[in-house]
Amino acid sequence: MITYETWDSEQKPTFPIDNNEKGALHVLTWAYDHYGEDLLYACSFGIEGIVLIDLISQVRDDAGIVFLDTNLHFSETYETIERVKEAYPRLRIHLQTPTLSLEEQEKQLGAELWKRDPNKCCEIRKIVPLRQAMTGKKAWISGLRREQSPTRQHVEFINLDKKFHNIKVCPLIHWTWKDVWRYVHGHHLSYNPLHDRGYPSIGCAPCTSPAYMEEDLRSGRWAGLRKTECGLHES
Ligand code: SF4
Repeated sequence: MITYETWDSEQKPTFPIDNNEKGALHVLTWAYDHYGEDLLYACSFGIEGIVLIDLISQVRDDAGIVFLDTNLHFSETYETIERVKEAYPRLRIHLQTPTLSLEEQEKQLGAELWKRDPNKCCEIRKIVPLRQAMTGKKAWISGLRREQSPTRQHVEFINLDKKFHNIKVCPLIHWTWKDVWRYVHGHHLSYNPLHDRGYPSIGCAPCTSPAYMEEDLRSGRWAGLRKTECGLHES
């Protein structure tokens, strides 16, 4: 098994990408065969998440999926999750919450930590919970696409994840924004309505604004700050 401990970049599997899904179904089939229950999908329920859930359900209809529930998401995001649960009743979707409630965080670290120290806020509300959700897992799936931002241009299908001492599987690296939407509309999938209101990338409500720059679809995340990633995808 390819694990963090046995990682050898020369032995990574390769996958054909000249098909409709640009390799995504091959990667997912390999990943679930290879890791079984030791594989977790950390889903943000953005538009790439909607695609991945549909693809995953074709490979493993009772797959385990975790959503990092920071308690700060838009109501539209929570409603989207409920619709997905109804559409894919066999998937095991778990909302992982931080140890600190928002009230406790405010008491210990002050109000609106995301404005003063977003890295600390993401550490408490996303990174630690993901670490907890991944306890005992060998690999996790992420919906990163190379086109999404300059920081994601070199992501591979199978990656060594130094941050979480794990393997990160990214089936959608070759998908374009148009591919994603073609799939969603072609399969009549329900998605977060905020996408239709100018939010290409959707995270916590306090840190997400509309973005209209096609060259960087994540420019609405932490707009005005130098921060571009929540820390889940930095090694
Ligand atoms: S995205 Fe913003 S609100 Fe959400 S955990 Fe990070 S800093 Fe906090």
